[in-house]
Amino acid sequence: MNDYISTRDAHQSVSSKQAILNGISPDGGLYVLPGLDQIHLDLSLICSKSYKENAVYILSHLLTDYSIDELRMCVENAYSNSFSKEEITPVKKVDDVYVLELFHGPTCAFKDVALTLLPQLMSCALKSTNQKALILTATSGDTGKAALSGFCDVDNIGINVFYPYKKVSAIQYRQMVTQKGKNVKVFGIQGNFDDAQSQVKRLFLDEELNAYCAKQNVMLTSANSINVGRLVPQIVYYFDSYKQLVQQGVIQVGDKVSFTVPTGNFGDVLAGYYAYLMGLPVEKFYVASNANRVLTDFLTSGIYDRNRDFIQTISPSMDILISSNLERLLYYASNKDTQKVAGWMQELNEKGRYQVDEQTFETIKNLFACASVDDNGTRQEIHDVYEKTKYLLDPHSAIAYKVAKDNAGRPVVSLATASPYKFSQDVLKALNINEENEWVAMDELSKYCQDVIPAQLKELRDLAILHNQVIDVDSMKDVVCQSTQEVFHD
Ligand SMILES: *Cc1c(COP(=O)(O)O)cnc(C)c1O
Repeated sequence: MNDYISTRDAHQSVSSKQAILNGISPDGGLYVLPGLDQIHLDLSLICSKSYKENAVYILSHLLTDYSIDELRMCVENAYSNSFSKEEITPVKKVDDVYVLELFHGPTCAFKDVALTLLPQLMSCALKSTNQKALILTATSGDTGKAALSGFCDVDNIGINVFYPYKKVSAIQYRQMVTQKGKNVKVFGIQGNFDDAQSQVKRLFLDEELNAYCAKQNVMLTSANSINVGRLVPQIVYYFDSYKQLVQQGVIQVGDKVSFTVPTGNFGDVLAGYYAYLMGLPVEKFYVASNANRVLTDFLTSGIYDRNRDFIQTISPSMDILISSNLERLLYYASNKDTQKVAGWMQELNEKGRYQVDEQTFETIKNLFACASVDDNGTRQEIHDVYEKTKYLLDPHSAIAYKVAKDNAGRPVVSLATASPYKFSQDVLKALNINEENEWVAMDELSKYCQDVIPAQLKELRDLAILHNQVIDVDSMKDVVCQSTQEVFHD
């Protein structure tokens, strides 16, 4: 059942368990399932099932070397107690837009949906080997905490998180540096997210480091959205939101809908594309970006060019210039031409730029549209939507919402990826109230909107800071070596 291959070389094949353990293919490519577009799921069946049942059904087609019982257990462990809403990811009508709320998990961000399930899948896969795994994660803010929370005290797994120092929100910072657990370590990096992510990618391919870890029976792996085990759980809520629209009488089974997705690393919207390839009726995916509009430019011109200034915005989880998961879209859109993909990725590596061929670009343009919203536009949207509907959007979700509204027509589902309370200061500012202190801002926001602060955010300010190391990118290798000692030997 070696059905996963590298986007850059069809001869590098592994099972889904191995793909989840490896994270990235040894040639630097991402694992993909060539037969993905041959899978056809039963939409009517999906529309009659619970979120968890749909998760097992959908994953059983993608992770073929897990037994149904294993998948059931993983899904139960992931979703039984960690989400505050029974639907897991409820859909709410806000004006003419259907908002898919993905932020009711342990850290109030959409990454929880995948990062509650990935540790279960990984732990299950490790049972068939007798190895230990050390997770290396670069984060632009939200992944870090969601991964720490998901992997905390999971047997035989340790985790190191690297975040760009002073480039995450005050709350994101607190969420990470207060994380408990004997197997977790958190480091600030002097640099931005791309610096951290590029270095993590290099470490995975570093022969010396891998040999050092192998001697201790430890394998290095990732929890970033390049991991298959991160990607596939996200497919479920695209189908499940469709189910909710059917159940709410908005559409009938078979009708097309559109999705707008606030995008950074291209993981979330790619999961939607996977759902589409597996039979979900989709009209368009709108890739919504902030002022770092590298994807907007790519989807307009066919040229991906990361040679530009990195802009810090009020939607930090989308402040990204290299959207790694785009590589998987290129694989499918180029008719699974691994040589072409390898060539583009080499150009990206060497020149920071590549241009896809006409046919690949046409295929992409038929399904994907794009727009970018800057900080002023984002604040305006938070303000206007609240005034009109009393619904509060966080900056990331507001970007998608604006794009949804601007492109109304068919039923459009707009993905809401974080609780507004995670970004209280900026959200409050959008409502024309300035408050310097993030924690006071959280209280003010809740008073203003007569709404409750999620408990997992409210408690943060009283927790002790447990991780205060800030390091250079060049020191990341050393701290990883130390971690293999400290995490597994005490
Ligand atoms: C990570 C994140 C995004 C971007 O998702 P990608 O999968 O990286 O495109 C958007 N919003 C929030 C709140 C996030 O945490």
